[in-house]
Amino acid sequence: MIADDDMQELTVRGRLRVLLSNGWHTLRELSQALHQSEKELISHLEHLRRSKGSDKAVFEVDAPICLQCGFHFSTRERLQQPGRCPQCRATRISKARYRLRPGA
Ligand SMILES: [Zn+2]
Repeated sequence: MIADDDMQELTVRGRLRVLLSNGWHTLRELSQALHQSEKELISHLEHLRRSKGSDKAVFEVDAPICLQCGFHFSTRERLQQPGRCPQCRATRISKARYRLRPGA
């Protein structure tokens, strides 16, 4: 028997895969589409990044950019939105976007 919580998890993760397979989405867009908190979705995204689905889709991150100096957070490991630019200390930073690219 599967607990209700687990069913809920599967459903959200399944719908997340569908959304991301259709193209780039920010955390806010995913949050609005799936009615999940951004914090909740981060953990789902972390899971997607670690696990390969049967379709071999590749999880991709369009890294945030500092809107002040153009610093690119390309080497950032964490999926959470950065609060501050390490280079110029500005807090105006573009939102990261995520997608699933279909595997070969
Ligand atoms: Zn900056």
